[in-house]
Amino acid sequence: MSVASASALQQIWGLGPHTSEHAVQLLRRFPHLRISSGKRTILQNARAGGVRNSFHLRGRAIDVIGLEAELRAAADLARELRVGQRCTGPEEVLLERMGQSGQHLHLAW
Ligand SMILES: [Zn+2]
Repeated sequence: MSVASASALQQIWGLGPHTSEHAVQLLRRFPHLRISSGKRTILQNARAGGVRNSFHLRGRAIDVIGLEAELRAAADLARELRVGQRCTGPEEVLLERMGQSGQHLHLAW
């Protein structure tokens, strides 16, 4: 699936508008990366091993999968990208399980 639009990401992954705008901008620059998780129910979050107050529960986080080098570059870009004048940037940028199974970049806005 190519990254269509922020509204598509809102529908598919349950993301809020600000989060989806960040996600689109990031994935446009890294088209090989894929979202593996977006908004979660409490049950889904528990099964995924998420923390209790995860941003995933509010549609404010995504997990992204791909090659380690690209995930690291995407993390660097995510720390710098702002969308809109009042945007203060990401709440969380976490490279998880690098080099292991389940490797992903967790991002929350
Ligand atoms: Zn996550």
